[in-house]
Amino acid sequence: MFDTVLIANRGEIALRIQRAAKHLGLKTVAVFSEADKTLPHVTLADEAICIGPAAAQASYLNPNEILMAAKLTGAQAIHPGYGFLAENADFAESIEKNGLTFIGPTSSAIRCMGDKVRAKQAMLKAGVPCVPGSEGELPDAAAEIIGIGAQVGYPLIVKAAGGGGGKGMRVVTTEADLVEAVALTKQEAQRSFNNAAVYMERFLQHPRHVEIQVLADNYGNAIWLGARDCSLQRRHQKVLEESPAPKIHERAIAAIGERCVEACRQIGYRGAGTFEFLYEDGAFFFIEMNTRVQVEHPVTEMVTGVDIVAEQIRIAMGVPLSIEQKDVVFAGHAIECRINAENSWNFIPSPGTVTAWLPPGGPGIRVDSHLFSGYTVPPNYDSLVAKLIAYGKDREQAISRMRQALDEMVIDGIETNIGLHKEVLALGDVVDGGFNIHFLEKWLGSRAKRGGQQ
Ligand code: ADP
Repeated sequence: MFDTVLIANRGEIALRIQRAAKHLGLKTVAVFSEADKTLPHVTLADEAICIGPAAAQASYLNPNEILMAAKLTGAQAIHPGYGFLAENADFAESIEKNGLTFIGPTSSAIRCMGDKVRAKQAMLKAGVPCVPGSEGELPDAAAEIIGIGAQVGYPLIVKAAGGGGGKGMRVVTTEADLVEAVALTKQEAQRSFNNAAVYMERFLQHPRHVEIQVLADNYGNAIWLGARDCSLQRRHQKVLEESPAPKIHERAIAAIGERCVEACRQIGYRGAGTFEFLYEDGAFFFIEMNTRVQVEHPVTEMVTGVDIVAEQIRIAMGVPLSIEQKDVVFAGHAIECRINAENSWNFIPSPGTVTAWLPPGGPGIRVDSHLFSGYTVPPNYDSLVAKLIAYGKDREQAISRMRQALDEMVIDGIETNIGLHKEVLALGDVVDGGFNIHFLEKWLGSRAKRGGQQ
């Protein structure tokens, strides 16, 4: 048990965690960099400590400073949010070793899922369908690599076992390019992730990104909370997410949800987690598991009524899940637009001072944001400044509410991608739903050719 939570993050997710902790009657400690003194969760925290300069390496990515802050303030639990140290198994382990509670899975579960080869092996064992590919890490011998390539088939993708953030991947279309591609990906993997292991998968050509949210407690209880479709992506970064995933039968979602929950039980998973799948021609293929809260968790909260962050904290307190699978009711549709401080045409980040902030409202509208008039968006971090979520009784109503909310939303002083979201939500394919992960990039390409406002 604990009564004080240290929030090892910033921005909208720090505020979101603080709300959940306070709702549970807990005290909160904010840790902040020199660039983040004015963030709302810092002002609202019971205690706040500066942990270093603006550079993330020296503050939010510095485990020692964060542990020190926990000791100084008496916080017994640490919530890592997403990004930064959220999936760093060593950080989770040092928290465990210091007798504190990491609000998330065990360090060994994070370590296992952080190695995509091990994660896939665990999933196959649990009966979760994976993208067909090499059985494990690729060997060194060229002849063997070519043999495995022939079995997998072309096009294929070579991926780093320790990869993340869309890095360390290479698509190979012919056998002639394979051995060199494997060598290059290994070098890159060693450099970026300090782990040269790579593996091979069939390259799916028109998949959707569909993911399953799960919650699991310390007592073998695990539930799935439906699917999110996150196919609208640019450079592997999600731009807009929704739940449920359009045009996929609820029985198919339930079947894959049950497999995910079974995998949680088998690997002894604890906390919130997301199973990411590529979905193509009616089949699900596991690609990776995220062992933390996701940016897009609100769409699931809107359609299920479950407070995912509060459940994370309760699970870490040793409390059993407050709901069983039969109590999970899916109702309506929710969409999230990620509002970034960036130009809608060239995507260059646009830090600076917000001169006016007017969030939208009305039925079904939720805004998760740390912005206020006069706030200065620092150049040092991710450009996400707000998440705009629209809920409706069905997809049509959610889209209609989202369009109106985007029209109402005012963020002056910096550039944002609100305009891009308005354009995207006017497209027939987006209104129809069920587009694949290449849709946005293709449309952006044709928009750039057509020119227009720059
Ligand atoms: P990361 O951890 O770096 O995000 P993922 O394994 O989640 O890596 O893959 C990121 C993205 O790369 C996917 O969302 C998809 O767009 C693409 N991708 C990965 N594996 C495949 C595959 N086997 N076939 C087609 N695209 C893939």
